[in-house]
Amino acid sequence: MVYDAIVLGVGGMGSAAVYHLARRGVRVIGIEQFDIPHDRGSSHGISRIIRLAYWEHPDYVPLVRHAYDLWRDLEHAVGEKLLWVTGSIDGGLADSRTIQGALSACRTHSLAHEFFDAAALSRRFPGIRLPDDHVAVFQPEGGFLLAERCVVAHATAARALGAVVRTREHVLEWSVGSGHVEVKTDRDRYEAARLVITAGPWLPTIVPALASRLTVERQVVLWTWPLRPELFTPDRFPVFYVDTPRGGFYGFPLDPERGFKIGKYHHRRERTDPTSVDRTCHPEDEATLRDGISEYFPDANGPAASASTCLFTNTPDEHFIIGRAPGQPEVVIAGGFSGHGFKFCSVVGQIVADLVLGETSRRINLFAIERF
Ligand SMILES: Cc1cc2nc3c(=O)[nH]c(=O)nc-3n(C[C@H](O)[C@H](O)[C@H](O)COP(=O)(O)OP(=O)(O)OC[C@H]3O[C@@H](n4cnc5c(N)ncnc54)[C@H](O)[C@@H]3O)c2cc1C
Repeated sequence: MVYDAIVLGVGGMGSAAVYHLARRGVRVIGIEQFDIPHDRGSSHGISRIIRLAYWEHPDYVPLVRHAYDLWRDLEHAVGEKLLWVTGSIDGGLADSRTIQGALSACRTHSLAHEFFDAAALSRRFPGIRLPDDHVAVFQPEGGFLLAERCVVAHATAARALGAVVRTREHVLEWSVGSGHVEVKTDRDRYEAARLVITAGPWLPTIVPALASRLTVERQVVLWTWPLRPELFTPDRFPVFYVDTPRGGFYGFPLDPERGFKIGKYHHRRERTDPTSVDRTCHPEDEATLRDGISEYFPDANGPAASASTCLFTNTPDEHFIIGRAPGQPEVVIAGGFSGHGFKFCSVVGQIVADLVLGETSRRINLFAIERF
């Protein structure tokens, strides 16, 4: 079989890339070393936040908007609800990057939002107790995606369009010839006109030229059974990111089967790599997260339900890398999603398809590989 494009890694981004390429009539094969989904990369752990009040940079807002549309298209294609709207809270000191950035995104893009001081926030959402001098921005369109289901949905919809998706097949090496690429796996050898590399935390190994610019970081998330579950149901409790004296905590409303989920942004700042990472959740991991729960969400501070480790792949400026490999126009790279990429998978899949098909209009300077 002759392919137009090979996608290396079928996780969050790769599954979306395979889908969008198949939609455009490209003969595409996706190659994944594990199962779809699996729990050794960056896209597992049930849920991911999606939010428009993008304090990281206002340029993300139009992309998130488009991502919402594409997630809804995907829901329609597979007949499954993947996106839940609960509203989103961004909290912090009034002059913090979080609050100033969230307000700037809302104002620049005319997003509906409400501004609260800490007391008013707790009256509206009694599950949250921020320090007295903190404030918060509520944006009603925020919510969460069922991340693993999204990966499965993209892969399933891609197969339905004729894409080939191989699992349990490990890419050992890739090379670029004149106008074509070659990929060698532990099972076979493939040729195509284009290669897409969406290897997540394996990117530094797959593209060693980027290794000095990428840091893979161990993360841990915890689910608890709240002491007062009625305060954390999705109708009374939004997704949140709060930038506090104890660190940045993010989380989700109560999942009746899994509990209340919380993570600390960058957790314990542990550099690692996907082959040697410690995937056990230790008492010190739980203590790091309990520190935030006990202080800011005390009514959620009940027994542990479960915990999970996951990996960030950080760039120096925490913006993504999306583009053609320098000097190798046959190769498109999408990586370095720095702990905030999942919500964009749907739109990144579309941008990757544009790049594969030679449409340069989708170049986004914020994500240019050449900036490093
Ligand atoms: C704890 C945690 C919380 C997060 N919270 C949010 C959030 O709330 N909102 C948000 O938007 N983002 C969030 N993120 C970030 C987001 O989840 C990631 O940016 C996104 O999942 C990255 O997807 P990816 O496709 O790059 O990586 P992955 O999904 O890991 O995919 C890479 C794939 O490539 C495969 N692969 C690698 N090498 C090979 C090879 N040699 N051969 C074959 N296959 C290979 C891997 O097995 C893997 O399946 C969070 C991340 C973590 C860890």
